[in-house]
Amino acid sequence: MGCPHPTIAPERGSYPSVGPWPYVRAKSLHPPPKTEITMKYFKEKEFVCRCCGELPPVARENIVALVENVLDPARERFGKPIIVNSGYRCPKHNKEVGGVANSQHLRGEAADVRCTDNKRLAEIIEQNGKYDQLIIYPTFLHVSWKRSGVNRRAKLWSR
Ligand SMILES: [Zn+2]
Repeated sequence: MGCPHPTIAPERGSYPSVGPWPYVRAKSLHPPPKTEITMKYFKEKEFVCRCCGELPPVARENIVALVENVLDPARERFGKPIIVNSGYRCPKHNKEVGGVANSQHLRGEAADVRCTDNKRLAEIIEQNGKYDQLIIYPTFLHVSWKRSGVNRRAKLWSR
């Protein structure tokens, strides 16, 4: 499969030593492939398992969907940093932190996040209308998103 974007062959000498003549590639004309991270405000490493640093491929896809649909839009509107306490959890780590057996963290469908105003952030997520579960804890929010099936828009409070 060829890249649809042309390789630029500039006039000899028109570019200051950016690569060997004549194969100078204009990087901006080569957008990243679809598998690359498209998240605006978050980095993949913020969602890896806290015990082992793992983020399996399917969980990674789910995290990207969670960010694209829920967290990035919320972050955009909130306008201030959102800290990820917990994203993907491997089964061992999920047990260690007392997560429920079928926790969405195990699939990378959920993240626990906090910011300077969790109540406001919860409001924004609710108003944006795209979430599966939004659980409001005293010090953080648990929010999830499913790539397939129905996103329930369930808002809950927990102690
Ligand atoms: Zn782990």
